[in-house]
Amino acid sequence: VRRVSITVRGVVQGVGFRPFVHRAATRRRLTGWVQNRSGGVSAEVQGAAPDVCELVDTLRRAAPAGARVESIEVVDLPLAEVQGFRILPSVRRARSGAILPADIATCAICSRETATPGERRFRHAFASCASCGPRYSIVEALPYDRPRTTMRAFAMCPACAREYRDADDRRFHAQAVACPACGPTLRLLSPEGREIVRGEPALQSAIEALRGGRIVALKGLGGYQLVADAGDPAAVAQLRARKRRSEKPFAVLFASVAAAREVCEVSRAEESALSAPQAPILLLDRSRTAAGGAMVTAGVAPGSPRLGAMLPCTPLHRFLVEGVGGPLVCTSGNLSEEPICIDDRDALLRLAGIADVFLAHDRLIARPIDDSVARVGPGGVEVLRRARGFTPLPISVPGVPAGIVALGAQLKSTVAVTLEDEVVVSQHLGDLHLADASELLERTVGDLVRLLGVRPRIVAADLHPDYASSRLAERLAAQWGLALERVQHHHAHVAACLAEHGFEGSALGLVWDGAGLGPDGTLWGGEALLVRGAVWRRVAHLRPFRLAGGERAIAEPWRAALGLLALVSRADALAWATRRLGEAGARVTMTMLDRGVNAPVTTSIGRLFDAVAALAGLRDVNGFEAQAAIELENAAADEDGAEPYPLPLGSGEPAVADWAPLVAAVLADVAAGTPVSLVAARFHAALAVLAEETAVRAAVPQVVLTGGCFQNLRLARDVRRRLLARGFAVLSPRGVPPNDGGISLGQAVVAALRMEERRDVSGNPR
Ligand SMILES: [Zn+2]
Ligand SMILES: [Zn+2]
Ligand SMILES: [Zn+2]
Repeated sequence: VRRVSITVRGVVQGVGFRPFVHRAATRRRLTGWVQNRSGGVSAEVQGAAPDVCELVDTLRRAAPAGARVESIEVVDLPLAEVQGFRILPSVRRARSGAILPADIATCAICSRETATPGERRFRHAFASCASCGPRYSIVEALPYDRPRTTMRAFAMCPACAREYRDADDRRFHAQAVACPACGPTLRLLSPEGREIVRGEPALQSAIEALRGGRIVALKGLGGYQLVADAGDPAAVAQLRARKRRSEKPFAVLFASVAAAREVCEVSRAEESALSAPQAPILLLDRSRTAAGGAMVTAGVAPGSPRLGAMLPCTPLHRFLVEGVGGPLVCTSGNLSEEPICIDDRDALLRLAGIADVFLAHDRLIARPIDDSVARVGPGGVEVLRRARGFTPLPISVPGVPAGIVALGAQLKSTVAVTLEDEVVVSQHLGDLHLADASELLERTVGDLVRLLGVRPRIVAADLHPDYASSRLAERLAAQWGLALERVQHHHAHVAACLAEHGFEGSALGLVWDGAGLGPDGTLWGGEALLVRGAVWRRVAHLRPFRLAGGERAIAEPWRAALGLLALVSRADALAWATRRLGEAGARVTMTMLDRGVNAPVTTSIGRLFDAVAALAGLRDVNGFEAQAAIELENAAADEDGAEPYPLPLGSGEPAVADWAPLVAAVLADVAAGTPVSLVAARFHAALAVLAEETAVRAAVPQVVLTGGCFQNLRLARDVRRRLLARGFAVLSPRGVPPNDGGISLGQAVVAALRMEERRDVSGNPR
């Protein structure tokens, strides 16, 4: 006989882990207890030694679908007199983040149940259990229990209540438990808000509408979505026109991995990412050979060799996509980049001009949570937009104190709130240029601080004074009477990646980005920073150039090209501007460039991408963010072993990478009629060589690749390959985006490091 204490760490709360331990223990006649504690699940079990070993093995191998077991610690204890096996009430401590779970896609057992005639939950759109279903999208306060979720509006029927109370049932303590008798009801609404039908007929009518080429607004897990038949060119074109989204790719909902394979290439790693409990939108290559290409019409992702694919995250999504019998466009319910709608009345107001019918229901959504976006990159699964399924799972950062509130950047905004040794990063909130997103930012800060029960101690923000996030940070710091820490944008990028990987030494950060304000007042974005904790130094950067028209250059890549040309050949620059603005306009713009009026200085690699795309004749104006850069990447796809353009790195510190020889070579290639694919490949190769030279010069063994440009898969792969070949260790963001969605995490970490330094200097104990 043996008695042990077992500590399981990882994502093990709100996923049915305790009932799982209970079942596994009672099956083996073990006695003891199991309990949620901060950071994990603890248990003490006693019984025959082989049974105890078997139990530990089961915890490791057969954990519930939504769980992620990171470690299991087993310690032997003296034997004790214990009867039976009990689930003890949770212990609440400062780290309440551990008991605030993320939404989990429907598990296989619930899916099977809803598809089996005669089952109580046959065709029930809201079936869930202790290891799957809504969590963060329905929780209103902690601890996570039904009365503090939006499910409190639904009184459990006796059958559901029995399951909820039965420790042997897989719905034991499943807070969202419901059935057709007691759960939410589907309703089909006209755009005027009139109820047409409810229940199963509502679902059937929505399926008919989709089959008939109409657009359905669907109340999903974290907000309204717009759905249309992906194989219907007219429906997709109509959705684009009404949503005012001309070319940006739409995500596609497939019924299964097999269905996705009829359209896309799906590797084994991609298959497991697609069917993971987070059910993200996964970027896949469109297949050039698979038979089902026509099931996703070209208008879904115009000109793109990739497709964002996802599998159903709720029974409702599954019924729709299976009912239609083919893939569905499934995109957030909003106008262009506004926050996603969650409230029925608001959705009717904002989406009435877009959707033909609304498939709604009466369960409230507690907060907007977009679909997450991920891909399988050189480092494994990489999250590019972190939201549903991932938020609010904390990121473990040992040493971080509780109470730091970091407000993030301006685009792809997120906020971060720290607990002891953990950082909770909010879901993706969108682009703060829009008033609604700005308001959402403030609401999300309040929401997280309240949910996590944190007392704010310090506020962190970007150096840029004009970001909506920076202004909110100033206001909150004043309101709360707290200090405000300003963190340089690219330092935050590097700090986020280092924290995620738990690396504490010196690292060279290659931060290739759109733009972030440098301490010199210019827009940085092609930086090599030597970072050690709270301290950093700029060791290299791209040669600066001016962006005529300031922020307009982000949407109009020809402006970045003009900035380069102006420094290389005045005659070429004037001709370039004249072609776009006419003679008078060109003269005015050239004068603005000369005098630096509304023409900020930048070292951005993102803008260099834009410029080369424009010079290569690919695109003058973007239809969506980074379109020109993405097209330049795609253009290079079939070119291997291209000769890199010259992009020499000067001597001294910071070393300056001069793009002038590169621009001259691009112009010569274009004049000679070189195919754009080769121009694109030579440009990518030049950047990879620059990365290698920069790393060799800095001679720091650990290199970090981050910033929005590293969403470019070709660039990320090429740079990584070259650095590894030279013996460098390479880290890239994985669970947090390389783009500005990761900035709030970096700010929080830097603020924590500075607090620690101050403590060290003042000699005060922690
Ligand atoms: Zn389930
Ligand atoms: Zn029920
Ligand atoms: Zn950035």
